[in-house]
Amino acid sequence: VIGKISDIDAQKKEELRLQAQAMQDSMTGLLNRAAFHEQAEQLLEIAAQGTGRTPAMLIVDIDKFKQINDNYGHLYGDTVIVSMADALRNVFGDEAVIGRFGGDEFTVLFLHADKDELEDIILKLRETYARDIAETEDGGKVTCSVGASRYGVDGTTVEELLKSADSALYYIKENGRDGYAICTEVIKRKFTAGSEQVLSEEPKDDNRHISAEITDFALELLEGSKDLKSAMNMLLMKVGKRFSLAAVSIREYDGEGMPVISYIWSNAVKETNAAAQVYVSPEERKKI
Ligand code: GH3
Ligand code: MG
Repeated sequence: VIGKISDIDAQKKEELRLQAQAMQDSMTGLLNRAAFHEQAEQLLEIAAQGTGRTPAMLIVDIDKFKQINDNYGHLYGDTVIVSMADALRNVFGDEAVIGRFGGDEFTVLFLHADKDELEDIILKLRETYARDIAETEDGGKVTCSVGASRYGVDGTTVEELLKSADSALYYIKENGRDGYAICTEVIKRKFTAGSEQVLSEEPKDDNRHISAEITDFALELLEGSKDLKSAMNMLLMKVGKRFSLAAVSIREYDGEGMPVISYIWSNAVKETNAAAQVYVSPEERKKI
C-alpha cells in the first residue's frame, strides 16, 4: 500500500471561511437572505419531528431609521444596525436562526413553548436593545417595532411565517411604532398585502390619492438622499408594497433598443421571475 498524507488544514480553514462569508451579511455577520431561508427551513423540519417547542418568526424593523441617518449621519446609523444585531444574538443565542436581508430589518426564527413565553422573549429583546443601543447625541432613544407570527397558527412554511410577521409589523407601524404585535386573524385580513379584503376595500377611483402619496414620497426621498441607488431601491419597494406587487423594476433602453434593468426590487415572500425580459413595443404600450 502506498499512501500520502498532506496537511490541508489551512486550505480547509480558508474553504470554511469563504463558505461562512457567502452566507453572511457583511455588516453584522448575521445570515443573508438565502442562508436564512435555508437554515430556517431546517429548523422547521427539526421542530416538525417533535421537540415540544413551536417555531415563531419575528421581524424587527428600526423606527424612522431614515430620519436617524439624516439627523445623525450614516455612521451612527451603521452602529445602530450592528448593535441591534448584537442584541438579537444576545437574546436568542445559537439556537435561533437570525438574518438581515439588508436595510434596517432583521428576521428571527426560534422555538418557543407558548404565547406567554413568546411575549416574554419579545419584552426581553426590547429591554436589551433599549439598554445596548447608544443614545443619539441629543439624548434621544432609538426604537424599533416587532411583528411576530407562530407556526401552525399563522403559517407552516418560512414564506408564510415571514408574510404573517410582516403583516403584524405593518400593523404596529401603522399604530404608533415602538411596540410589538403578534399576528391575529384580523391583522392577517387587514394588513396582508394582496389579500382580497385589501383589494375590495380599495376602490379603483382612489388611485389619484395613491399616486400623490407615491410622488410626494419620491420627491422627498430623492431630495433628502445623497445615494441615488438606495433611494431608487426604496422607491421601488414603496411602490411594490403599496400595490402588493411581486416585483418592480426600472428598465432603460440600451444602444440597440433593448430594455435593460437599472433598478429592481422583488418581494421576499412571493415567488417571482422579476428579472425576466419582457419587451413591450411602443405600439403595444399605446394599447395598454
Ligand atoms: P419605519 O419606521 O416605517 O420603518 O421608517 P424608516 O425610516 O425606518 O423606513 P424604512 O425602514 O423603509 O427605511 C430604512 C432606511 O434604512 C432607508 C435606508 O436609507 C437605511 N439603510 C438601509 N441600509 C442601511 C445601512 O446599511 N446603513 C445605514 N446607515 N442605513 C441604512
Ligand atoms: Mg425602519
